[in-house]
Amino acid sequence: MNTLYTPTELFERRRNLVEAWQRYEACAAFDHFVEFVVCLSSTTEFLINKGIAGLMQHAQALEQHALELFGATHPLERTQTEQLSDKLVALERQLQQHIERLQMAQERRRAVSEDGLPHEVPGFRSVWLLSERPDKWQGMLVQLGYFGLSASAHRWGEVPPVTDDMPMLLIDAHDVEQDVWRQRVQSLRNSFPTCRIVAFAVRSEFSLLQQSLAEGCDLCLLEGTPVHQIVAQLLTLSEAKADDPYRILIVEDSKTATKITQLALNEPGITTHAIDHPDKVLHELAAFKPDLILMDMHMPGCTGVEAARVIRQHNQYLSIPILYLSSETDVALQIEALRLGGDLFLTKPFNPVFLNAIVKSTVERYRALRWSMFRDSLTGLHNHTSTKSALESTMQTMHKQQRPMSVIMIDIDRFKQVNDQYGHPVGDQVIRSMAWMLRRRLRKSDIVGRYGGEEFLVGLPGADAEQAKQVLDRIREDFGQLQHPNGHGVFQVTFSGGIADNRESVHVEDLIKAADAALYEAKRAGRNQLQCHVLTRDASLV
Ligand code: GH3
Ligand code: MG
Ligand code: MG
Ligand code: MG
Repeated sequence: MNTLYTPTELFERRRNLVEAWQRYEACAAFDHFVEFVVCLSSTTEFLINKGIAGLMQHAQALEQHALELFGATHPLERTQTEQLSDKLVALERQLQQHIERLQMAQERRRAVSEDGLPHEVPGFRSVWLLSERPDKWQGMLVQLGYFGLSASAHRWGEVPPVTDDMPMLLIDAHDVEQDVWRQRVQSLRNSFPTCRIVAFAVRSEFSLLQQSLAEGCDLCLLEGTPVHQIVAQLLTLSEAKADDPYRILIVEDSKTATKITQLALNEPGITTHAIDHPDKVLHELAAFKPDLILMDMHMPGCTGVEAARVIRQHNQYLSIPILYLSSETDVALQIEALRLGGDLFLTKPFNPVFLNAIVKSTVERYRALRWSMFRDSLTGLHNHTSTKSALESTMQTMHKQQRPMSVIMIDIDRFKQVNDQYGHPVGDQVIRSMAWMLRRRLRKSDIVGRYGGEEFLVGLPGADAEQAKQVLDRIREDFGQLQHPNGHGVFQVTFSGGIADNRESVHVEDLIKAADAALYEAKRAGRNQLQCHVLTRDASLV
């Protein structure tokens, strides 16, 4: 899930929605109503994807209402229009409030920067824990602090006033009577419409869980969930992934059909590009790099299936999804398309809301597939190959800009002992916390990869070896403080690291070698430390 968004993005969605409604009001034609519903549905989906829980409830209710009027005669009756309009105004007002809060938070974050290197960790940065017994959870708050989240505990009834920082609310259900609980969740949801609310220590009872979720909890962690799992869940939720708009290539000879398709896909999260003849498709695949192809079945001199066959001759395009737009009578072509495998088709005339939804879910699946090819499954970091290629391209950029860049090789100390004493799954959890800590504490532009078992490779563009050492030393100290659970008690682990920078060489392989040599020095000198590679004229590195 991509949870990163800017106030501008939200502002644009709000404006699009209002404008689409105004167009309908000006000329109450069915086409304009469809346009409005598509816009509304995409806004709702946006709010769901971004986890903006309070707002998404309102948007969903409005969408439901509008969809019910799909079959009505247009223009709608006055009362129907008025009802829709009232709901829209209420949603619009809430969106506006949320945008203003986001803007204030953004200003504040801009003002805060660490080490002169701007910090841009997205997602929420603070956690408020609400409990009958806040003192009980101090240990968990400290752990969250090591991962870069500022956590504070509050008694129910002493909840601080709403701030523009939008904390995540972690609420303790232990020993709270169901009716009281329901009221508390409800009133929190009203006061914090856009914050995430995570309940923990919730009894596994159907009606309790149902009510908690209905009143506005985003997630309920059941009674007995261990602290490290709660921490892990919060870290996962706080990870905000940014990604590019979906890129859709439309291959269609009819200008009208292209226009209709583009209208259905017209929203800020989607970029479309249309070509009117399939012979341009290979060029566009390379230049536009689409996530999905919308293919007309009938084009002069070539069917959509023939064009797909040509595309599939290329290894790199074997898995790109192709969605055909065909007519009812194209059964033979549809069967042929099915035989080619993996592709989908939609019959014209299509429902624009449905096309929009199917395009997005297909791209989402395609991207997940690609993600798993480049990511390490245990940690979600870049895998070995992808780390190197990310380092290479960033190194080139830094070299062109004549800016420093450092590479750090990290290895957990005496990790074999962890596995031997507590078992492999506990070892895995340590690897995960190392990954999370690096990801949370470094900037988004930094490269963090899992290089091998318990080895990590980090690239810091813009930082030389000395600056990198300062940043990593703080992380090293905090990592050493983390309490890892082993089933009975807790234990601590340290790591060592070797650092090299691009004064040494501009070749990634050389820097990795140099960082590795420095890591060896760090281990030899007693572990739990960082060593910078001493610049040499060693022939093997030049
Ligand atoms: P040193 O301080 O010298 O690094 O000592 P060490 O024990 O960490 O030694 P080394 O780096 O050679 O050992 C790495 C161990 O990590 C060996 C292997 O069993 C373990 N390991 C590698 N990959 C994984 C993994 O994915 N999960 C777990 N649990 N263990 C792993
Ligand atoms: Mg055609
Ligand atoms: Mg190792
Ligand atoms: Mg090791």
